[in-house]
Amino acid sequence: MAEIGKVLLLAGDGIGPEVMTEVRRVMSWFEKRRNLGFALEEDLVGGAAYDRHEVPVTDATMDKAGQADAVLFGAVGGPKYDDLPFQLKPERGLLRLRKDLGLFANLRPAIVFGPLADASSLKRELVEDLDIMILRELTGGIYFGQPRGIETLPDGQRRGINTQVYTTEEITRIARVGFELARKRRGRVTSVEKANVMEAGILWREEVTKLHGAEYGDVSLDHMYADNCCMQLIRQPKQFDVIVTDNLFGDILSDAAAQLTGSLGMLPSASLGAADANGRRKAMYEPVHGSAPDIAGQGIANPLAMIQSFGMMLRYSFDRDADADLLDRAIGDTLAGGLRTADIMQSGMERVSTQAMGEAIVNALERAHNQ
Ligand code: NAD
Repeated sequence: MAEIGKVLLLAGDGIGPEVMTEVRRVMSWFEKRRNLGFALEEDLVGGAAYDRHEVPVTDATMDKAGQADAVLFGAVGGPKYDDLPFQLKPERGLLRLRKDLGLFANLRPAIVFGPLADASSLKRELVEDLDIMILRELTGGIYFGQPRGIETLPDGQRRGINTQVYTTEEITRIARVGFELARKRRGRVTSVEKANVMEAGILWREEVTKLHGAEYGDVSLDHMYADNCCMQLIRQPKQFDVIVTDNLFGDILSDAAAQLTGSLGMLPSASLGAADANGRRKAMYEPVHGSAPDIAGQGIANPLAMIQSFGMMLRYSFDRDADADLLDRAIGDTLAGGLRTADIMQSGMERVSTQAMGEAIVNALERAHNQ
């Protein structure tokens, strides 16, 4: 069987290895039944790497990540590591991966499977079957801009400074990802900034409009101010398809969108880098949740965020949309059948373990594949 790419598995800490085991179960099914094999490598990250090597990620692991077509990442962190110096904390391993791989585009889908619509804080009809994508610029903007700092003024007051800064290239490369995502979805992009009060927002709007006119006339483009977008996300979230925005606004909007779904155990994410000469991008796929030390080792974690992250990998790193669709369908069927891990448990449903949920997804894949 041909392997379609190299994948590095970094399970990490806490529930990371537990949910990764279920992804491997799903990957084996795809290998056997859909002829979809990967050259897999595994390595340590976070606290697990610190325990062995006294760093949260080694240079050797970074080399492997650099050579892989995609990285599947579990979660890192835990109380055991809370007193480590800042540079050695498990989370630094994750940040180094994002930074050194140049992952500037963060994709956070907010998907509400029909059977889970009641877990949202919004009314069922507003969120049922919601499927929107927040695309956040991840390596620029006000979190990195210079000057920054806290200074003391001559009169003794103190002043905090951060600088919102974006270049043409930073704007067009993220906008390009947004338009390309929209082409694989429902063909609509909403670009979000504050062009009414910020020059960086004016530039953002001009550059996105220019790129749209030059190359993406087949995609529809709207512009929205960030404050209005917050309101619209809560008022009528299904109006959106792809929202593309900067680092600061994306941070806020993606958390608001996550809450629409009501469940941390159901949220996948992807981070993408620049395309190489063959159009391939460095990429890392990971659940939004952390290592959940409060439930680690109990076999009750929800593996669906991790499994959906693998689905995103199929779609965005390997162009296997039909396989990703099959996986989404298997997840929807399993939930419709009434199986729930503890975090998404509802009355009248059947509570299952992490492993039983993984097995149920494989059974549902088999049924969907045979239809
Ligand atoms: P968390 O996401 O680990 O957990 C928050 C709550 O959600 C907990 O009650 C947990 O049990 C629950 N939860 C999370 N994922 C779940 C799942 N798949 N199934 C069922 N329940 C789930 O966030 P936290 O408690 O703030 O942080 C714990 C550790 O994880 C910290 O060390 C933190 O720094 C780290 N963290 C890592 C990442 C990452 O690796 N990307 C992200 C966030 C937090």
